Amino acid sequence: MTLYKTLSNVPKVNSFAALPEDFYTRLPTTPLTNPRLLHASADSAALLGLSPEVFDQAEFLDVISGRLALPGGDTLAAVYSGHQFGVWAGQLGDGRAHLLGGLKGPNGVWELQLKGAGKTPYSRMGDGRAVLRSSVREYLASHAMEGLGIPTTRALSLVSSSDPVRRETMESAAVVARMAPSFVRFGSFQHWAAKQRPDLMRILADYIIDHFYPECRQSESGQSAESDYVHFLECVVKRTAELMADWQVVGFCHGVMNTDNMSIIGLTLDYGPFGFMDAFDAAHICNHTDSQGRYAWHAQPSVAHWNLYQLANSLHLIVEDADALRQALDQFEPTFLSSMQKRMMNKLGLLQWREGDQLLIDDLWSVMHHNHADFSLSFRQLAHAEGVTNASQGVIEHDLGHTVRSSIKPFVDLFIDREAAQAWLNQYVLRIKLQGINMQQERINLMLASNPLYVLRNHLAQKAIESAALGDSSEIEKLVNLLSKPFKFQSGAEEYACLPPAWASKIEVSCSS
Ligand code: AMP
Ligand code: MG
Repeated sequence: MTLYKTLSNVPKVNSFAALPEDFYTRLPTTPLTNPRLLHASADSAALLGLSPEVFDQAEFLDVISGRLALPGGDTLAAVYSGHQFGVWAGQLGDGRAHLLGGLKGPNGVWELQLKGAGKTPYSRMGDGRAVLRSSVREYLASHAMEGLGIPTTRALSLVSSSDPVRRETMESAAVVARMAPSFVRFGSFQHWAAKQRPDLMRILADYIIDHFYPECRQSESGQSAESDYVHFLECVVKRTAELMADWQVVGFCHGVMNTDNMSIIGLTLDYGPFGFMDAFDAAHICNHTDSQGRYAWHAQPSVAHWNLYQLANSLHLIVEDADALRQALDQFEPTFLSSMQKRMMNKLGLLQWREGDQLLIDDLWSVMHHNHADFSLSFRQLAHAEGVTNASQGVIEHDLGHTVRSSIKPFVDLFIDREAAQAWLNQYVLRIKLQGINMQQERINLMLASNPLYVLRNHLAQKAIESAALGDSSEIEKLVNLLSKPFKFQSGAEEYACLPPAWASKIEVSCSS
């Protein structure tokens, strides 16, 4: 069966397009010339009820490169506003994203969006395109986050082209087809507050509550009461706080946490100059353009809270009770702290929380920071650190294997000041003994399931970009496979689990994409 026929049989649920026209502009995409499918994801396709066989069909390439509308779809670009780097930027919107429609897969509806398929009324000075470099990064990051179990928009496909695009230098255009239950942002709500349109804000809030937060609708009448909107804010606050904990514990920096890049359903959204940290620095800035460090790693939770404050401020247009909104915002800190505690217990293999554990964790962050120890390997190697592993040698050999063992530096070797690392490790060994030597296996299993061995380091993405520019997608394929199972040792992938090469620290990632 042709893709068009197959897709025609997949039920369409264009619920966003069913909102009033104020929320978007209907318009066609501008197709790429000479599109070439670089990669497509069988996992993402399965979410839509599609088998990988469709990847070979010309119609698949036509749809994901913007040449052919989705059968039964409703192509549009959404409007939103937002704060960029803390400053109100007014109207923004999908300047280079087209929503093709919603597809009902086996486990729910997924909106399909093309990023880089041409100009829209919201493109402002932009060209509506995305370059290959940033598209490869978004494609890989979507898989990496999913593999880590972190809520994210998904990526279906990556298409390259020969169309030239001017950034600092001439580059080429690409399109990522991405998927999410919804692409609505905090900025989508800010837009109607700025326009003083409580009627449209209510329509948007009801739409999001009905589809994604049905538990918030407590009023019987079917019509929302103000308290439903407060409850909705509280749910967004909690989801966002948990997302921040998810990011922090894998060393992920988003790079551009503007309110228009904050998903209302708590997904990681709009991958630009993001980065997974190599050497740990609490003040690490992944975005070269962010000279003030507004979005540095240690600032992310408080920025998320600030962004939620802007969301609450907008909702004040339809919720009179400012105190109730404030109380919902107050849920951020306790939710974030308890989420961090849970995740850090897992990362350190602590089976129960004991007095003194917070200090142990804080001291680890401190010694890692002062030594610029590798973020991911420090945690991963802790599972195998000398002095805590004796009871489970067999498991360690099985996990890492001899070759990896020799290419991955042991825990204390990751620190310049090995004595400081050893002093912390001694404390850790004492703490681990408290939970009993017979719990070693459980500790190790928990740590290996919580600390990834493979992360999307900048230099790995860079190698994939360079090969992709030459038309070779084998590196993308390799990374997608590794990053989809980042906790599981995979033989033959030793070089992907090593410390980064020296040139990695010279890679500059900026807002230009
Ligand atoms: P970002 O922070 O990259 O998510 O983008 C901020 C705003 O600029 C959004 O409204 C984007 O749609 C828009 N934008 C970014 N790059 C382009 C581009 N090349 N062409 C048109 N609009 C763009
Ligand atoms: Mg954006």
